[in-house]
Amino acid sequence: MTFIYEALPMRVLFGAGSLRRLPQESERLGLRRLLVLSTPGQRALAEHAAGLLGDACAGLFTEARTHVPVEVAEAARAAARDAGADGCLAVGGGSAIGLGKAIALESGLPVISVPTTYAGSEMTTVWGLTENGRKRTGRDRAVLPRSVVYDPELTLGLPVDVSVTSGFNAIAHAVEALYAPDASPIVSLMAEEGVRSLAAGLPAVAADPGDLGARTDALRGAWLCGACLGATTMSLHHKLCHILGGTFDLPHAAVHTVVLPYVAALNLPAAPAAEQALRRALATDDVPKHLARASAELGAPRSLAELGLTERDLDDITTQAQAQPYANPRPVTEEVLHSLLTDALKGTLT
Ligand code: NAD
Repeated sequence: MTFIYEALPMRVLFGAGSLRRLPQESERLGLRRLLVLSTPGQRALAEHAAGLLGDACAGLFTEARTHVPVEVAEAARAAARDAGADGCLAVGGGSAIGLGKAIALESGLPVISVPTTYAGSEMTTVWGLTENGRKRTGRDRAVLPRSVVYDPELTLGLPVDVSVTSGFNAIAHAVEALYAPDASPIVSLMAEEGVRSLAAGLPAVAADPGDLGARTDALRGAWLCGACLGATTMSLHHKLCHILGGTFDLPHAAVHTVVLPYVAALNLPAAPAAEQALRRALATDDVPKHLARASAELGAPRSLAELGLTERDLDDITTQAQAQPYANPRPVTEEVLHSLLTDALKGTLT
């Protein structure tokens, strides 16, 4: 066995009620003028966080949007400059956190993040910006949040459909971390346990969205899976979802949920250790089918067609995916990719 493992300097505060520790956390980091960021839908929570910060809040910017359009990033950067911000507090899902990263990328301003979905962006150095229908991504240490406050109470209102797809988005990070070219024993442990925690939490969340124990399991799983995303190089699955989200403006988490079983069916035969870990975590002998069935049983979309994709789009996706090299446990030809996408379009795994 050979591996390289480089731990990211992450500080995590986890637990119900941890949002109340925000003032001490900003003080610990020496931040006195934080710009609070959110999507429009999370404005009330952003205002609540701003209230907790008191004088350490320099203003609010609540126009975050998915995939960080460059215009929104520019407006937020201007708001940070105008407010004389010395840092940002990103409250919400990957959209709000992505905006914090866009500001940090340009200015180096530190980010505190309070994740309220299971997407995992808060654990990574990956930033993304979308311009003219193309999403660019990169890695930069400057965008990694200095502190991450996970408070399961804040996820009690996350709608069940978003919770489920966001949870499968997190599971996708773990799946690809398990067969990543830079996988390592510690990441594999986190991945297996992250999937186990989400597999326990998501059905319980769907049955009772207000169940704090279930929410805690799901958020704990999301943290572990996000940490796997931050520690490894993602493969075909993330590549495809990135294209589907950026070019066709399809909902990020739902795309991950639909595509994952098909990529798992392609890749797991070439990654036996990953398959074993997922079999243990999901308590199944057939990981791809289990992923497809479990998400559908919890109400998630089953096919890319349901999300608005058509057969005509498949050539474009295949061409884009093949245009840039990416890691994958199995070599992927255009024919293989086209056939995988056709299956995902129709939702053939049931
Ligand atoms: P999101 O942040 O857009 O949130 C989805 C919706 O849920 C939004 O309308 C939001 O207002 C709402 N919401 C969030 N938390 C809520 C709560 N607790 N209660 C009620 N409603 C709530 O979606 P997402 O899936 O979290 O993030 C997707 C974005 O993050 C994409 O742009 C994706 O590319 C990016 N992402 C980046 C990374 C990375 O490492 N850079 C990792 C994962 C995702």
